[in-house]
Amino acid sequence: MSAAAKLPGHEKYARLFQPLDLGFTTLKNRAIMGSMHTGLEELPDGFERMAAYFAERAAGGVGMIITGGIAPNEEGGVVVKDPEGNPVFSASKLTNQREVEGHKLVTQAVHEASPDTKICMQILHMGPIAYNDGLVAPSPIRSRISKYMPNELDKAGIQKQIDDHAHCAKLAQEAGYDGVEIIGSAGYLLSTFLVEKTNQRTDEYGGSYENRMRFPLEVVRACREAVGDEFIIVFRIAAMDMLQGGMSWEEVAQLSRELEKAGTSIISTHFTWHESAVPTIATMVPRAAFTSVTGRVRNEVSIPVITSNRINAPEVAEDVLERGEADLVSMARPMLADSQFMNKAANDAADEINTCIACNQACLDHTFGGKTTSCLVNPRACHETLLSYQPTSAPKSIAVIGAGPAGMAYATVAAERGHKVSLFDAASEIGGQFNLAKLVPGKEEFYETLRYYTKMIDKLGIELHLNAFVDVDMLGDFDHIVVATGISPRTPDLEGIDDEKVVSYIDVLKGNKKVGKKVAIMGAGGIGFDVADFISHDGPSGALDIDVFAKEWGIDFENHPRGGVTGIEPEVASADRDIYLMQRKETAVGKGLGKTTGWTHRLTLSRRGVKMMNGIEYLRIDERGLHILRDNKPDLLEVDTIIVCAGQKPLRTLYDAAKEKGLPVELVGGAYEAAELDAKAAINQASYLAAEI
Ligand code: FAD
Ligand code: NAP
Ligand code: SF4
Repeated sequence: MSAAAKLPGHEKYARLFQPLDLGFTTLKNRAIMGSMHTGLEELPDGFERMAAYFAERAAGGVGMIITGGIAPNEEGGVVVKDPEGNPVFSASKLTNQREVEGHKLVTQAVHEASPDTKICMQILHMGPIAYNDGLVAPSPIRSRISKYMPNELDKAGIQKQIDDHAHCAKLAQEAGYDGVEIIGSAGYLLSTFLVEKTNQRTDEYGGSYENRMRFPLEVVRACREAVGDEFIIVFRIAAMDMLQGGMSWEEVAQLSRELEKAGTSIISTHFTWHESAVPTIATMVPRAAFTSVTGRVRNEVSIPVITSNRINAPEVAEDVLERGEADLVSMARPMLADSQFMNKAANDAADEINTCIACNQACLDHTFGGKTTSCLVNPRACHETLLSYQPTSAPKSIAVIGAGPAGMAYATVAAERGHKVSLFDAASEIGGQFNLAKLVPGKEEFYETLRYYTKMIDKLGIELHLNAFVDVDMLGDFDHIVVATGISPRTPDLEGIDDEKVVSYIDVLKGNKKVGKKVAIMGAGGIGFDVADFISHDGPSGALDIDVFAKEWGIDFENHPRGGVTGIEPEVASADRDIYLMQRKETAVGKGLGKTTGWTHRLTLSRRGVKMMNGIEYLRIDERGLHILRDNKPDLLEVDTIIVCAGQKPLRTLYDAAKEKGLPVELVGGAYEAAELDAKAAINQASYLAAEI
């Protein structure tokens, strides 16, 4: 880095911006954009969209990018005959020259956007969790999370997998990548050779640990031979796999040393298998929770080591590097949330970073739901060619009423494009319902979104009016009016609903009403779950205290028993309350929660003794409690508090009045559609509309 290029953040985050010499090439800084499968890989125009997506991140200053997983196995023509490790039928793979040409679009775009940013392609063989019935594994043992029984690889099959990996690495090199990452964690093929419970072989690839390491090491050696010395090979290990009976610390350490000898350039540490029952990236996980484990791997080898998981701010990355726990820091989702993360850090403008809140709602939940990835706080992520914020040629004066997620997103996008925006809210602070969400233990990251918008409102010169309840008479002077007034909570039509023991979720979260020892929660949607968490929780938030988190989920970071979890019972600190969480639907309670995080909420509440009930009919409320019909039988819940979390209705009074007056008005967010509206939908809708005005 030349002296002329020194920026204030380069000193503040001196370790993060220190180059790393790999001998044959240099990484310009210590930030890696970690691998994420985005769904772009499988789209007809996927290479073009990936080119735009990665190029924007390269221009944003990250040192090295790792792509989503690309399969190494060949298809037999149009019909997939031999999909083996591919994630899905016709999943993205790199096995032939035609595909090399597609990948060149990506590598060229990245290197044009930033010649000193490196890009590595991840080789992903899903092994026993591939979504197809041609899947293969060391032994015919079905994964807890797969519906298919894998076919056991014979020796020729193992050799074919080694050859396929090497061929794929060679093609990646031809396509212009600076390296490959081989994934040897998460329950994918290579990792299942390492662990005894998934490798029951009796030949030289099973049995002793030396034998179980043989296949992954042969893959690395074959790849190294195929690509020569001057090509990056990252190998991703499960440094703590979070499996009962998983890898011991000694096995992790030995594998790391052997990988170095086999020709690995960089070891990347991962902390889970998909089937493990410990959250490792959800918002309830403390920041940088796992980096101490990487630190121990680093002591075992002389090649650089990457750490990851819940590192979402430059100061967190800098601290990890300062503690000597890693050479490089991988931030995957934070680069979705803000492509300019590293440039902002370099300019000492970290308060302008749109921080990843680890909600998984638009990234992993989409990926696992078969949808293209995006980001709750940044709808442009993976949609760079579809959503762009171009300067307007006809600036308007715009009033945005309501500074919740929809209003804040609309106001900032419109102002960024050159419109003159006035933003009003009746409350004394911006944020709308995010001011309630941030109070829920484990959701502290929501403060970051409010910090980001506060900064952007100021930076973009938006005229902010707080404590300003707007009525229609105040709106005559604007060219355009955007009503983002949100919702009003639904009150069920039920005998006794006015009883004094009935309270709203708003009063409970704000601490305006006391909650008794026996509580019924009517409604088990996102808010019902959050409220159940709030009132069943005792002590400090696990998201802010790593010891609390470790106890809650039964992890031993210090002694690292097998998998980090073997033999440890989670210790749950719960409030002294009897809680019923209820819904009328017959479906399982919590079924509508996030695909990748819902299980953590269900497990947490059931460990705290919250009773979840479905198929309930509410009959009436009286001095004795809540009368219900359950399995067609009348029942009485003798509770002293009933919290209503029964969904929401759009608040459109202002919109209706403006419309009646013939004003140029549009609706966004919860005020437009309250049913099933969350912050992801609110910000997304508002951003698209503001991009067009
Ligand atoms: P709101 O956030 O409701 O904002 C509307 C704003 O308009 C308010 O600030 C209000 O004061 C203002 N206003 C109304 N009328 C007027 C007027 N006449 N004049 C001036 N101002 C006015 N969503 C997720 O996606 N993920 C989550 O994890 C999540 N967790 C949640 C947890 C809780 C406890 C709650 C309550 C909600 C949660 N949500 C979550 C839902 C999410 O917060 C909402 O979907 C989102 O806030 C809707 O945004 P909005 O801008 O449409 O409305
Ligand atoms: P919701 O998720 O739609 O849940 C509403 C609940 O109320 C349901 O359990 C519903 O179940 C019940 N209900 C509906 N009408 C009722 C009635 N008339 N009487 C009694 N019960 C009734 O809405 P929400 O919990 O209010 O959340 C609002 C939005 O915020 C949602 O979009 C939600 O996704 C989002 N949010 C997300 C998260 C998150 O972590 N991702 C957290 C909080 C909120 P039955 O109809 O079966 O009784
Ligand atoms: Fe982070 Fe949520 Fe965006 Fe995913 S959707 S990148 S978890 S903020």
